Amino acid sequence: MQRKVLLCVLAAASLVAAAPKKPKLVVAIVVDQFRYDYLTRFRSDYKAGLDRLLTHGAVFTNANYEHFPTVTAVGHSTFLSGATPALSGIIGNDWYDRQEGREVTSVSDSKTQLVGGRGGAGSSPDRMLVSTIGDELKIADQGRSKVIGISLKDRSAILPAGHMANGAYWFDNATGNFVSSTFYFADVPPWVKAFNDSRPAAHYAGAIWLGHTMPADPKQLNAALAASPFGNELVEAFAERALEAEDLGKHDFTDVLAVSFSSNDYVGHEVGPDAAEVREMSERTDQVLGRLFETVERAVGLDNVLVVLTADHGVAPLPEVNATRRMPGGRPPAGIVNKTAQEALVQKYGDGKWIVSSSEHSLYFNRTLIAERKLDRAEVNRTAAEAIRGIPHVFRVYTFEQLMNGAVTADAISRRVTNGFYASRSGDVEILLEPYWIFTQRGATHGTAFDYDTHVPVIFMGPGIRSGRYYGSITPNDIAPTLATMLDVETPSGSAGRVLSEMFAE
Ligand SMILES: [Zn+2]
Repeated sequence: MQRKVLLCVLAAASLVAAAPKKPKLVVAIVVDQFRYDYLTRFRSDYKAGLDRLLTHGAVFTNANYEHFPTVTAVGHSTFLSGATPALSGIIGNDWYDRQEGREVTSVSDSKTQLVGGRGGAGSSPDRMLVSTIGDELKIADQGRSKVIGISLKDRSAILPAGHMANGAYWFDNATGNFVSSTFYFADVPPWVKAFNDSRPAAHYAGAIWLGHTMPADPKQLNAALAASPFGNELVEAFAERALEAEDLGKHDFTDVLAVSFSSNDYVGHEVGPDAAEVREMSERTDQVLGRLFETVERAVGLDNVLVVLTADHGVAPLPEVNATRRMPGGRPPAGIVNKTAQEALVQKYGDGKWIVSSSEHSLYFNRTLIAERKLDRAEVNRTAAEAIRGIPHVFRVYTFEQLMNGAVTADAISRRVTNGFYASRSGDVEILLEPYWIFTQRGATHGTAFDYDTHVPVIFMGPGIRSGRYYGSITPNDIAPTLATMLDVETPSGSAGRVLSEMFAE
């Protein structure tokens, strides 16, 4: 009898011991514009943070975004929500708000003010319709988890952190400060003020990397830092300060530190993925991540920390570089889409300003004018779409009605465009160029539904995770539901992914 009880106690004890310990801290990292192949092409350069992740982490080799457009705000809103734009409402970096009659950004919020800098209009996650992992942690533990987002860009700090975050901080070129918004608090905490008072950006005046010298003039310096490795260093230094000042990972509930490194994107846009600068940036990202992990290790112990890393999108090669390789690609003439659509609508329906707003890939037509002339909106959209399809190197044009009704070809491209459609925010026609063709007239860019833009790293590292390479197709949408399962909290409300249980240790 006694022996049986003892066995039961032992069994119970071993069950408790086998259950994965919940991490005290989730370090959630985005590298802005970091193609999956930067991990493999530059592998021999990595000796610090990326080396650690590639050696000890679960590395997913075939993670692709399932949305269009593949841009910063959408990638960052996906990261810790698992939602596609069709669910999150974050359909781009900016879009035309038909109610407000003006262009808005993914985080612009006229109800808020900037704090920590010189004031001005603030930002918030208000336009994101779904919850994040941080939100779900806070809902589960009555707000006791701490959730902090940090980046150079406002959208990249705000969107991963979510609605209930303790704070999101980003870099303000006008002042060289890390700033925030009245959405979070009336003023930035004292540790942020102290960090800003030390003028951290000024330390980089005259600094040199790969032959590029940082300007001495403070205004020029602040603007130049973003497109240099020093922008990432600044963000890492601020993240270290946040970790310490906010005591992240030091209490009974799991905290989230979401850090997005934007400098890779600024540099990548200027020079394209094949330039020496991109390799240098990647190597220095490895070093910056190494420093961050060492700090986290000292402060919290890495066995208490779950690290997850991804990128918000990839990037296309420069068309000029592709030409030298006898690969396809190019740049259509500037403004050709708008011109073609406007002319086609004038020809059929008469004079008028038919386009109220346009980004590179979508047009918003003048619905007031369409109503005044008693026209059928669907027919107007079809007319414009047909004309745009005639432009050389246009790959596909989708109308609002096609996407609304699912009347699209059944392939990966259409699926990604449909996942990026949100009726009250999306345009009337969506324009996709052929592979390797880009709208911008100089530099490189991203945004398409093709693999060079959708294929990104996804790496998890920490207790309960089996290291190794995982070859199955996954999507960054799987990150949030996986975290929810590991943390025993509700899956974020718009999550469209699955749990990556193949990496869970037995
Ligand atoms: Zn980006």
